[in-house]
Amino acid sequence: MAYLHTLDEVDVKGKRLLLRVDLNLPMENGRVSDATRIERVLPTIQELSEKGGKVILLAHFGRPKGRRVAEDSLRQILPALEHYLKKTIAFADDCVGRSASAVVDTLKNGEIALLENTRFHKEEELNDASFIADLAKNGDIFINDAFSAAHRAHASTEGLAHVLPAFAGRSMQAELEALNQALLNPQRPVIAIVGGAKVSTKLDLLGNLVSKTQYLVIAGGMANTFLSAQGVNVGKSLCEHDLAPIAREVLAKAKAANCQIILPIDVVVAKKFEAHAPSSVCSIDKIGPDDMILDVGPKSIAHVDALLRNCKTLVWNGPFGAFELPPFDQGTKLIAQCAAQLTIEGKLRSIAGGGDTVAALSQAGAAEKFSYVSTAGGAFLEWLEGRTLPGVAALEK
Ligand code: AMP
Repeated sequence: MAYLHTLDEVDVKGKRLLLRVDLNLPMENGRVSDATRIERVLPTIQELSEKGGKVILLAHFGRPKGRRVAEDSLRQILPALEHYLKKTIAFADDCVGRSASAVVDTLKNGEIALLENTRFHKEEELNDASFIADLAKNGDIFINDAFSAAHRAHASTEGLAHVLPAFAGRSMQAELEALNQALLNPQRPVIAIVGGAKVSTKLDLLGNLVSKTQYLVIAGGMANTFLSAQGVNVGKSLCEHDLAPIAREVLAKAKAANCQIILPIDVVVAKKFEAHAPSSVCSIDKIGPDDMILDVGPKSIAHVDALLRNCKTLVWNGPFGAFELPPFDQGTKLIAQCAAQLTIEGKLRSIAGGGDTVAALSQAGAAEKFSYVSTAGGAFLEWLEGRTLPGVAALEK
């Protein structure tokens, strides 16, 4: 990558490589329930090990807030990591100090060690200089492969990059290449879909997207706020009425930037927020006082489908409806499948991200057909907001 230091620039043989990864994995009954994040960092770990580096994994787990908490120990990740890497991995009970250096000092070229949760030290989140120096004692080179933690300026995500030669790992590199192709130098027209529950959590993101895209589809609960701001009665739907002036501001900004905003024209309504609640389709001017909008209707779906066929790039965050409650998953599912099909046909470059979005696209059987699905939550959203991520900035040339 032209603007980032990558592994192509460095000889890692015999070097102690502090590799920041994201191992904050979902667990069920003491076992890893979704290993996607391990799979994402495997190529980097394998490459560094095959090239004869001593690979020292740094990661956080949970929110122990500077205390040693047994249930946040990275030791529980070790079996899954060894399973995927097909190798024995050494483990150190601390990420700094004697127990860390004792393990690191015994590593031979190509071997791998995992150090205990960096967040067991409060200095991690404080980006504390002496903690950074302690971490750096065990490394010759710092490699960051955790895009999902790059929005935090912590010792192991940002600080280390200032005291050791620093490079982006392959997963970080792939993520940034995909994201930059979507918004920095995309093929136009670009369409963005922003759904989910609330406008209040995605205001900055909407503001940035209207200046970068030709079409902005506002969906999910947040569309209700926009409809209401334009005088539509949304009944008992989730709606942030106090944000009406801000919604109107976004609409005005979009108009000025020549970005077309797309809101639902018909919706699926129910009286209860629960799976299989009796429901009906109505146009947005026929929503009753007791109705709750839980999904978009067929005309809205057809409209978005037609737009997708016209566009070259899609950026998607947030579902169209209450996708966890069937049948209110239909809008998200059908539009995801349309985008997936266009991607497979080579007509659309599709990028999606954010926790619920990944779950919704996977549920629709579409995630693996998208050009790129980011597993990063907060970092992906901050990137959509157009912010500089400190962990990425520290790797720039
Ligand atoms: P977010 O985390 O902001 O992406 O929001 C995702 C959540 O928005 C999911 O849990 C959906 O169930 C919820 N959601 C989407 N559309 C609606 C809607 N019309 N009414 C209530 N919740 C919704």
